[in-house]
Amino acid sequence: MVSPVITTDSTFDHYWHVSRRAVLRSVIGGTASLLFTARVNWVGATEPSTTAGKQWLQFHYTEAPRGFEEILAELKQLPLRLSEVYGSPAIVRAVNVLIFSDRQQYFAHLEKTLPTAPRRNSLFIVRSGRPTILAVQGKTLLQDLMHEAVHSLNHLTFRNTSMPLWMDEGLAEWAEDSVEQQSRVHGKALRQLLGGQRILLPEPIRLAALEKIKSTTRADAVDYAASWAWCRFLLSGKYGCRGVWNRYLQDIRDAQQAGRLSHRLALTVPDYEQRFLRFLTSI
Ligand SMILES: [Zn+2]
Repeated sequence: MVSPVITTDSTFDHYWHVSRRAVLRSVIGGTASLLFTARVNWVGATEPSTTAGKQWLQFHYTEAPRGFEEILAELKQLPLRLSEVYGSPAIVRAVNVLIFSDRQQYFAHLEKTLPTAPRRNSLFIVRSGRPTILAVQGKTLLQDLMHEAVHSLNHLTFRNTSMPLWMDEGLAEWAEDSVEQQSRVHGKALRQLLGGQRILLPEPIRLAALEKIKSTTRADAVDYAASWAWCRFLLSGKYGCRGVWNRYLQDIRDAQQAGRLSHRLALTVPDYEQRFLRFLTSI
């Protein structure tokens, strides 16, 4: 049974049945160094009793992923990295992480429980109020988990989906891989769109255009690339826009009517699009 889709495919609510099976569960403790592993017989519906607010990712898998220690080490740093981005501490609460052994098992599971979900490598969903990450074993597992873990922290920190979709995706792209690797991947798409010129910002990569996208199912590679680039640009202290970004994040966190970031930028830094173009030439 699937209850109504709220706004994006990363925030829909639904019911889910999980069969009983013995799995290995690891828990990362918040932003601190608490990290332990315990063998449990996990039943999907069981709430972690005394751990809310202290633990974050709770892994469920049948076989420990390859390179799991490295994956855990990277994930553990994420709340702190995002706290720096937010300009205030990230909220860390329990998030389930289900890692499937292969794509076949994963897609069969989606077919059964989330028939309308996009068929991607990984997903972040909210199921009856409970944040859950679904991912598959494989080469991109670290990248996929980093991406979805950013969505989980954005969701926990900015309640009621107050963070705009482009920012949610842009930050997830920003965190999932090194700046160099992401510059290679996204830089190519952006350069193609710009052609040889550096004077006009093409409509699809204008911030005002990204702000209109309401569902990732309608977002393409350029939208992801542009969202990533805008986040990097705004995070940089070099272009005079970081203060506007900080105030905007504070307002959406405080559930203020924040409006659009593009409007605020236009008022405070009227040539912000030209500055963004200058930034694009540096990536
Ligand atoms: Zn995403």
